[in-house]
Parts: sequence; structure tokens; C-alpha cells
Amino acid sequence: MSDCIFCKIVNGELPSATIYENDEFKVILDRFPANEGHVLILVKDHVANIYEIDPEKAGRLFTLAAKIARIMKERLGFAHMNVMQNNGTVAGQTVFHFHLHLIPRYEDDGITIAYQPLDLTDAQIEDMRKKLELSL
Ligand code: 5GP
Ligand code: ZN
Repeated sequence: MSDCIFCKIVNGELPSATIYENDEFKVILDRFPANEGHVLILVKDHVANIYEIDPEKAGRLFTLAAKIARIMKERLGFAHMNVMQNNGTVAGQTVFHFHLHLIPRYEDDGITIAYQPLDLTDAQIEDMRKKLELSL
């Protein structure tokens, strides 16, 4: 994708603070971080979102995320982390090239990544369970 900033970062046309890469993923520091040590894992091929990424590749991405999260925790000395991945503008996606956020959380850091829970009845929960019941 010629106008995608993350494609440009992946192919080296735009600079990035890269901490790791392999044939499938590039791991960089977020240029406008939510917090110190905010890391992004980019897929190297251009897919926009979770609906487009190969599920097997998504599995390998999460394996990598789990390894990197542990190393970040050890090196930066935090205890808490948000793992975030946005799909679509309503969900907060601003760069339409699949990426996973690893956001370290520090005591009293003032960041809000939160929602107000809905107060649903058991019947409403059961309706939704029926809609989403899976046979994969
Ligand atoms: P999204 O909102 O799509 O889930 O996340 C996009 C992320 O990309 C944001 O956290 C934003 O700060 C980051 N970002 C935007 N432009 C650049 C850039 O040029 N370089 C880097 N490293 N990160 C960027
Ligand atoms: Zn792209």
C-alpha cells in the first residue's frame, strides 16, 4: 500500500525506532506513545485489521507479544500492561495496517483505557450467547 505509513516503516522508507524484526513482524516504539515504553508490533504484509489477518499469523504474533511483554516488564520494571488492538475508526484505529499495542502501565500514570459496563439481564446475556455460540 503506497500511502500506508506502516508499510513505509516496514520497508524502511520512513524511519522507526525498531527493537526487533523477523520475516513476518517488525516491532517498533510508538512515535506518539500513551506511556513510556509503548511498543507496536506490526505485521509486515499490509492487512488492515483482524478480519483480514491470517489467523495462524495472528497466533504467531501473539506468541511474539507474550515473549516481548515479559522482556519489557523485566527491563523497564513495570508490573502492569494493556495489550490493545483497534479495528475501525469507531474502535479508535487511526493507522489501517494491522498492529498490536503493548502499553506499560505505571502506578498513578493517569491513563484511562476504560469503559462503562452495561447492566444487562441474564436473558440478554443468553440471547447474545445464542447469537455467538461457535462451532469452529
Ligand atoms: P491505532 O490508533 O491505529 O490503534 O494506533 C496507531 C498508532 O500509531 C498510534 O499509537 C500512533 O501514536 C502511532 N503512530 C502514528 N504514526 C506513527 C509513526 O510515524 N511512527 C510510529 N512509530 N508510530 C506512529
Ligand atoms: Zn500498510
